[in-house]
Amino acid sequence: MADGSALEVLNRVFGYDQFRGPQQEIVDHVIGGGDALVLMPTGAGKSLCYQVPALVRSGTGVVVSPLIALMQDQVDALTELGVRAAFLNSTQDFARVREVERAFVAGELDLLYVAPERLLTDRCLALLERGRIALFAIDEAHCVSQWGHDFRPEYLGLSALHERWPDVPRIALTATATQATRVEIAQRLGLEDAQHFVSSFDRPNIRYRIVEKNDPRRQLLDFLKQEHAGDSGIVYCLSRAKVEETAEALRAQGIDAMPYHAGLDAATRAANQARFLREDGVVMVATIAFGMGIDKPDVRFVAHLDLPKSVEGYYQETGRAGRDGLPATAWMTYGLQDVVQQRRMIDESTGDEAYKRRSASMLEAMLGLCETVECRRVRLLQYFGQASQACGNCDTCLEPPQAWDGTEAAQKILSAVYRLWKERGQRFGAGHVIDILRGKRNEKVEQHRHDELSVFGIGADLSEKDWRNVLRQLIAQSLLTVDHEAFGTLALTEGSRSVLKGERTLMLRREPAKPARARESSRA
Ligand code: ADP
Ligand code: ZN
Repeated sequence: MADGSALEVLNRVFGYDQFRGPQQEIVDHVIGGGDALVLMPTGAGKSLCYQVPALVRSGTGVVVSPLIALMQDQVDALTELGVRAAFLNSTQDFARVREVERAFVAGELDLLYVAPERLLTDRCLALLERGRIALFAIDEAHCVSQWGHDFRPEYLGLSALHERWPDVPRIALTATATQATRVEIAQRLGLEDAQHFVSSFDRPNIRYRIVEKNDPRRQLLDFLKQEHAGDSGIVYCLSRAKVEETAEALRAQGIDAMPYHAGLDAATRAANQARFLREDGVVMVATIAFGMGIDKPDVRFVAHLDLPKSVEGYYQETGRAGRDGLPATAWMTYGLQDVVQQRRMIDESTGDEAYKRRSASMLEAMLGLCETVECRRVRLLQYFGQASQACGNCDTCLEPPQAWDGTEAAQKILSAVYRLWKERGQRFGAGHVIDILRGKRNEKVEQHRHDELSVFGIGADLSEKDWRNVLRQLIAQSLLTVDHEAFGTLALTEGSRSVLKGERTLMLRREPAKPARARESSRA
């Protein structure tokens, strides 16, 4: 019976001919009363996985969602389809709350969206006791992970639902989960016995590109003008200030850019978001506060001016591009400063040691993706535990970077840092160390008589840019570190020794002379 009526609901209510990918299987499982943990990439169609069962089963589907800002849109969209949906959150007045509660108890709702902090109140739990519940859907389930970037403490309380309503099926959904996060979600939400539905995370229409950062604003502008003129897209920056500056700089160049970050007042944020969703060709310059749950199919590019903290973050943010399946670009500028900045943020964070270690390893994985000479997509999918073939639609596939033996170059830098410390008791930043290697007789060198060091001029064969590149890779691999407490000066690490001693060969990435451009391949 389930099959027929699920498909019937899909056709009649949602107007779609058939289920996509694993939807059918998931829907059947939940209709049958089973618990499910669904991992599906953004845009794959998670919502129907709980909406259809909520309509087929008797009672109301209770949807836990952290995205208060989007509840209205979701409910409006459902109402338009004739689904009896409502939400309960802090934006409503009391009269409206009473009306929604009455409708729920009277069995007049198919779907009820509730924010987690609200759901766990005594009032709300008591309310749920008085109605009939078809299922619990826990959206953005990775918010239960304390290690993830979207942790919401209220999510930890959601395991109570199962204790209180053991017979109501629960479906937890997320677009972001490694094997480790998946285990954590199952554990914390009491979903040990749930069936897991894991979809492929590949987004073949997205072209991944990570370019070496030299003049980021210029690079962004060139990227936008040459490859995405007039397209809708998102530009992510780390700080609010940078969001503001970048948006302004783009506007000055005639690009329809708007800022979005948590420091803007709610009305401005809502207005900017609405424009981005409704109009064509708007570029949203934003912090990661923007985008969770945004369903805009024709976002043609996502650009990162700063390095995300983790591969999950990168995947989720870039995943907002090309949800319509048409070619889209995930573009990022990445440089030495990014590595230094992210490391510093971890060092200076207030988290405990375990948190810092976990953050550092997430950053390592992200750096590995940036520095790889292999297919970016293979790397990305590998991270999510999925094997794949070189894709032909990423920068490293289209313009393979050379791998070169950087052992000697690395030894030169490390010796320079070592000599400065050993012979002079001094530490310096990247710029000065490079000047010493290249044998530059500038004021600072003369003042410190660094031209007398044995390492002076031993690296004249490489350009300053090359040296920065080597330095970045050494720092990315923790073979050299930047000491934030000592004015950003360079210091050796545990790993430095093996390189200095010649115990290991270091293959480094050489940036392609000419970055891969969209028009160089129309295969996508
Ligand atoms: P997610 O939550 O996984 O990011 P959504 O549930 O928002 O994705 O769905 C993304 C888009 O795909 C929506 O516009 C949705 O209507 C559409 N969609 C989902 N399932 C189907 C289907 N079976 N047939 C056609 N369109 C679908
Ligand atoms: Zn590739």
